[in-house]
This record gives sequence, structure tokens and C-alpha cells, in this order.
Amino acid sequence: MNIAIVGVGLVGRVLALNLLKDGHTLTLFDESSREGIDAAGFTAAGMLAPFAELETAESVIFDYGKRSMELWPNILKEAGVYDGLQLKGTIITAHPQDIPELEHFITSLRNKVSEAKEIKMLDSQELSELEPELGHHSKAFYLKDEGQVDAQRFMAFSTNTLTMDPNITWKDYTKVDKIEPAKVFYGDEVEEFDWVFDSRGLGAKEYFDDLRGVRGEVFWLESSEVNISRPTRLLHPRYKIYIVPRENGCEGMDLEYCKECKISQAPGSKRYIVGATEIESDDRSPVSVRSSLELLSAVFSVHPSFGEARVVNTETNCRPAFKDNLPRIENSEKLTRINGLYRHGYLLAPAIIEKALSEGINKE
Ligand SMILES: Cc1cc2nc3c(=O)[nH]c(=O)nc-3n(C[C@H](O)[C@H](O)[C@H](O)COP(=O)(O)OP(=O)(O)OC[C@H]3O[C@@H](n4cnc5c(N)ncnc54)[C@H](O)[C@@H]3O)c2cc1C
Repeated sequence: MNIAIVGVGLVGRVLALNLLKDGHTLTLFDESSREGIDAAGFTAAGMLAPFAELETAESVIFDYGKRSMELWPNILKEAGVYDGLQLKGTIITAHPQDIPELEHFITSLRNKVSEAKEIKMLDSQELSELEPELGHHSKAFYLKDEGQVDAQRFMAFSTNTLTMDPNITWKDYTKVDKIEPAKVFYGDEVEEFDWVFDSRGLGAKEYFDDLRGVRGEVFWLESSEVNISRPTRLLHPRYKIYIVPRENGCEGMDLEYCKECKISQAPGSKRYIVGATEIESDDRSPVSVRSSLELLSAVFSVHPSFGEARVVNTETNCRPAFKDNLPRIENSEKLTRINGLYRHGYLLAPAIIEKALSEGINKE
């Protein structure tokens, strides 16, 4: 089929890789650059945290999340990413005065899924065996079946793969105004396809009037003094943070963004993505002073050597979400819309897309 994908952020890319495998011809529309650096999919920490997300999410997120974790290895292979998946689990900790946060966290999880009963609590000795530099924390949970996709590597490498494929036509810097079954409207043009996918994230507000943005700010830190190997979350009554190690930094990412930017990993240093705020707003302006103070004080409290880390980049973006914070698939004849992946895009996209395809284009 001759297919259009409108919006080539996270969902658009996972869709494209799936559809190419089935032998379709694709036209990819994005209002921004094909490198995807304006997409929420680029800002994301890429955590695959079906258990930890249950603290605030419904158990359906857990089910899709587990399925996505089975699908990611192949998707990354299709995208040409061979070093972008880590499945070593997550550490959840809190300061001594906030131990009730840890107890509340585990109770919520255990009330939602039976698998959470197996989550192990670690004392400081067990924690230091797993993560030697976090041994000063007296208690933690180890969610062994979690992981992370290196979101920036996925975006960078998929750009290259989707650019080299002869079955793809790119229409980047092309803002689509309206989508109808089999039709894409942009500028003065209307183009016809056998099927159209709407994966514009927050850009689909012209169609979904209940879609909202949830602003998230992250810091990229580099340090040669901190050595944490697993995504680590600090629970706190006011600001919860995560620290996600990125083993490879920008290495091998052949993006204009990387060539021009000042981000270069100093020898011996390791990159960490620290985030993220969650603010009800569509505002994508730079990181605020308040958020900087909160995120950076919290990261310093997890490991004092972060005090000497270098801030190499900050990113802000907005997660596309509906009122119930659940993803939505709308399939009709010759048109599929996928949206509302909120803070779970990496966790959900492969499984949601599998469902959308099987109930839509592949059902015909
Ligand atoms: C700070 C932050 C941290 C996150 N961390 C995680 C995490 O750890 N784990 C996780 O699972 N998820 C995480 N997420 C969530 C995840 O990034 C999103 O759920 C996901 O990116 C949504 O995918 P999407 O394709 O719908 O939207 P996007 O990735 O935003 O892609 C939308 C694309 O559509 C294009 N577009 C928009 N309007 C138009 C138009 N009119 N015409 C043409 N193109 C258009 C945009 O340019 C963009 O490229 C995080 C998000 C943020 C902001």
C-alpha cells in the first residue's frame, strides 16, 4: 500500500519501521526536521518502567508495557540501534525521612498487579552490591524486570535508517493542517494515499479537542565521578526525580544536531539524564529556575558527587495526554489515529502500535 504517516516522532517512527517490514511504501510528513529533535520522543528518558509507573497509572499500562518490552529488541534492530537497550532493572529509593513514600509506593504497586509481590526490598548492604555508589541509602526497591531504551540513539539511528530506505519519501518541514481518511491536507495541497496514520502527538489538537500537553524538563549531566549503572528514582513528597545513565552519550549519533552542538562526552565521564518535571502546560520554553533548583538539588542529594557534574544540555517538551492519561487508538476506513501516550511513550508505543495495526490496516 501507499501509506502516509503524519508526525514522525516516537509513534511515527515505530509505525514506519513496522510498516516497512510488511513491504509498504511510505511518505513521512513532519512539521519539523527529520531528525526528530523537536519531538517529545527525543526529550524522553526512555525508561521502560511498567512496575514503577503503576504508582500513578492503571494496570493496563503494565500489560502494554510488558508486551512492548518483548517487542523493543526487534524494533531497535530494524532501526539499526545495537547498543540502545538496557534491561538491568530500576532502583527506587528515598531519604530516611521519606521512607513512608517508599512504603506507599510498594503498596500501590502490590494492590494493582500480583507480579509486584515479588519485588525485593534491599538494605544498604544489598544495594551496594548492586550499585556500589548508592550504598549510603538505607532502603531501596529493586525492580529487576525494568529497563530503558536510549531514546536519543533510537531517534538518531532511526532517522538514518528511514532516510536511506528507498521505499520512503520524506516531507519534513511540512506542517499538515488536516487529515481525513486516505487524505493529507497541507498548504494548498491535498495528497491521496491508500491509508493515513495520524501520529502528530500534541500537534493533533486540531482534531482531538481533549488533548493536552504536560510539560517536562530534563537535564543532561556528565560526570567522571559518578558511576551509577541503572535508572534510579528518588521518591520525595514534592519532587520525584529519576537519574538515567546513558552509557554511550552522543557517540556514533550522526545528527546535524550532534555535529553542531557543544555536547561532547569528556573522556572517562558518563552521561545521565535527570528529570523530569510534570507541569500542566503546553509551554515548551526553556527550563525554569524553580525546576532547575528542584531537579538539581534532588540529584545532588542522591549522590553528592553530582555537585561537580557538568550540565551539558537541557531539554523541554510536552507529553501528549488525554484526561484519563491513557493512550487512544482510533481506527476507521483508511485512517488510524494514535495519541495520548503521555509519560509512557517508550513503554507503550510498540504494543499500542501492534494493536492499532491488527485492528486497522491489517484487519482489511
Ligand atoms: C521530559 C519527558 C520525559 C519522558 N520520559 C519518558 C520515559 O522515560 N519513558 C517513556 O515511556 N516515555 C517518556 N516520555 C513520553 C514520550 O516521550 C511520549 O509519550 C512520546 O514521545 C509521544 O510520542 P508521539 O509520537 O505521540 O509524539 P512526539 O514524539 O512528540 O512526536 C510527534 C511528531 O509529530 C510532529 N507534528 C506535530 N504536529 C504536526 C503537524 N501538524 N504536521 C506534521 N508533523 C507534526 C512533531 O514535529 C513530532 O515530530 C517522556 C516525555 C517527556 C516530555
